[in-house]
Amino acid sequence: MEAEIKEILREKDLLKASAIYEIPIDLLRRMNEQGLLNVPRIKGMVIRQDFLNYKRHIAKSKGKFGESEILVALSKEYNLSLRDVRNMAYKNYKGKMCFCKMCGVRISVSMAKRTGGVCTRCNAESLPQF
Ligand SMILES: [Zn+2]
Repeated sequence: MEAEIKEILREKDLLKASAIYEIPIDLLRRMNEQGLLNVPRIKGMVIRQDFLNYKRHIAKSKGKFGESEILVALSKEYNLSLRDVRNMAYKNYKGKMCFCKMCGVRISVSMAKRTGGVCTRCNAESLPQF
C-alpha cells in the first residue's frame, strides 16, 4: 500500500495541488520529477478537496448520489482501496490525518500521539544501540 501511494503525482494531481497550496505549477512539476514532494500528504489533500467538491455537487442531485458513490468514484480515480479513500476523505476532513514527520508515510492519530509524530520505522531509529 505504501509503495502504491508513494508514486509520483500525475499532471492533473499537480494542477489541483498547485491550486490548493498556491504553489506555481512549474515548481511543483520540477519537484515531482526529482521526487522531492511528499506525495501521500499532497494526495490526501487533493482527494479531500475532490471529496468536498463532489459533496457540493451531489447536494444538488436530489438524492440520486450519496457519499458511497463519491467514495467509489475516488477509489477508481486514484487507484486506492475504498478503505483508504474513506480514511482520507473523512479523517482528513475532520483534521485527523497524520503523516510521519521524518518520512511522510500515513500514520494513525494514536501513533502520532504516542511517538510525537513519527512512524514505527522512524521511531525505532531513536532507540539506543546495545
Ligand atoms: Zn517515518
